[in-house]
Amino acid sequence: MMTNKTLFIDAIKTFGRTHQLYKVAEELNELGTEVYKEINGRGEKKKIIDEIADVYIVLAELELMCELENSDIGCTIDYKLNRLRLKIEGEKNGTNKKD
Ligand SMILES: [Mg+2]
Repeated sequence: MMTNKTLFIDAIKTFGRTHQLYKVAEELNELGTEVYKEINGRGEKKKIIDEIADVYIVLAELELMCELENSDIGCTIDYKLNRLRLKIEGEKNGTNKKD
């Protein structure tokens, strides 16, 4: 059985890098559309699940297409999560800058 990584490499080889990059943008937009529906009270759980699944898949492909290191992404996620923690703390304490 093909691993996911092998499957993604096969998809990139079969359909082409540019096509798969368009696919990434397309899936991100589709999820965005479902999020806006959620904001407007018209969200559907099944559609959001479908689009989140699509986005997870294309993000994994994007990592391969751009030759991104998993550890680099992990470090950046850690940094941004920490920044979010500080922002929440600031909001709770009223010490955030208001621009
Ligand atoms: Mg989709």
